[in-house]
Amino acid sequence: MSAENAPPQAGESKTAKRRFTPKLMIVAGASTVLLLAAAGTAAIWLWPKSPDPAAAKSARMAAKRAAAQASAAALPASAAPAAAVETTASVHDAALAPAAHDPAPAVATDTPAPHGAPAAAAEAPLDRLQRRLGEVLGGKGAIQPSQAGELRVVARSPAVVPVRHADAPAAAADRTAPAGKAERATHWSYSGLGGPQAWGRLKPEFGQCAVGQRQSPIDIRDGITLDLEPVQFEYLPSSFSVIDNGHTVQVNVAPGNAIEVNGKRFALLQFHFHRPSEERVNGRQFEMDVHLVHKDAEGRLAVVAVLLERGAAQPLLQTVWNNLPLEKNEEFAARAQIDLNQLLPADRRYYTYMGSLTTPPCSEGVLWLVMQQPVPMSAQQIDIFSRLYPMNARPIQQAAGRIIKQSN
Ligand SMILES: [Zn+2]
Repeated sequence: MSAENAPPQAGESKTAKRRFTPKLMIVAGASTVLLLAAAGTAAIWLWPKSPDPAAAKSARMAAKRAAAQASAAALPASAAPAAAVETTASVHDAALAPAAHDPAPAVATDTPAPHGAPAAAAEAPLDRLQRRLGEVLGGKGAIQPSQAGELRVVARSPAVVPVRHADAPAAAADRTAPAGKAERATHWSYSGLGGPQAWGRLKPEFGQCAVGQRQSPIDIRDGITLDLEPVQFEYLPSSFSVIDNGHTVQVNVAPGNAIEVNGKRFALLQFHFHRPSEERVNGRQFEMDVHLVHKDAEGRLAVVAVLLERGAAQPLLQTVWNNLPLEKNEEFAARAQIDLNQLLPADRRYYTYMGSLTTPPCSEGVLWLVMQQPVPMSAQQIDIFSRLYPMNARPIQQAAGRIIKQSN
């Protein structure tokens, strides 16, 4: 607080003058000072590095002086300094916070404008500040010129609130993405703008979805029939929890379940469902499938796919459906247990090939084990899943000469 803000001495004339000052003028004066303070502070924060250090320095000094003058200007209302701080903070947050997390900052660097550098060089300092603020605050029109020496700041609505998904492989990558603008473009789904054809373009780490040569699912045909070693299923009654992650219903299973194949042991992590089945066999698609996702000590994945067709009710699936959570993305810990041996077909012969995750990021190197014999589930059980996910199957991918083996 400067001396100007000190309580006035009990002088008649000063008191009288203050009494007659119109409130409107105080408000208008305060607003102008606030704007100048905000603009000056924003200029200090946002002023880009100029190729000419002397020019940049003088411009920064000018901005600093403007801010200092604005701060020094006396405001009669006691709430005014707090308001000025708030205004500055909100400009700072809105403009700089997203850029600080942006791996390719469009704001603080001196990247040549698409309209050409000569035009930018000819700009007056205030015009340039105006343009930069405009870029930062949301493109054209955010800062509008009015009278000379004055900036008019137009607020814009906040960015879309990001939506998070519980899909394990993508979740870690999601967290590194800048909040706000990118979220809208990175949302993947099974139809519309975020549908399978767009997955590879949504995020750099989803690239395999578009260019991978060993993607899943495939239409399984022309397999080589061999005496394949049976998959050893080491499943036992287990606790579980159910989550609707926005892409499917997923069941997280307590540790202790595993398979052994080709001398390698893979621990069961979770299983989830697709409708209709993602795998096809000689062109035939099934009502649904279940994917049991396993991982070995080196982090390699092996997925057992069980095809589901219409028939008798499936007791294990009923137990899972009974424990569906009421809310998306909220894990529901069931009190019951499940024994996954109940979900396996009596005939354990299988198809096997190397493929990928069927959801972004579509990582390859996944060992697929597709059971040949489908398992029945009732029409009512299929309908229950359909109410949540009528279609959550990725389209068939090119087998592209991959070897498919099948049990004799
Ligand atoms: Zn799946």
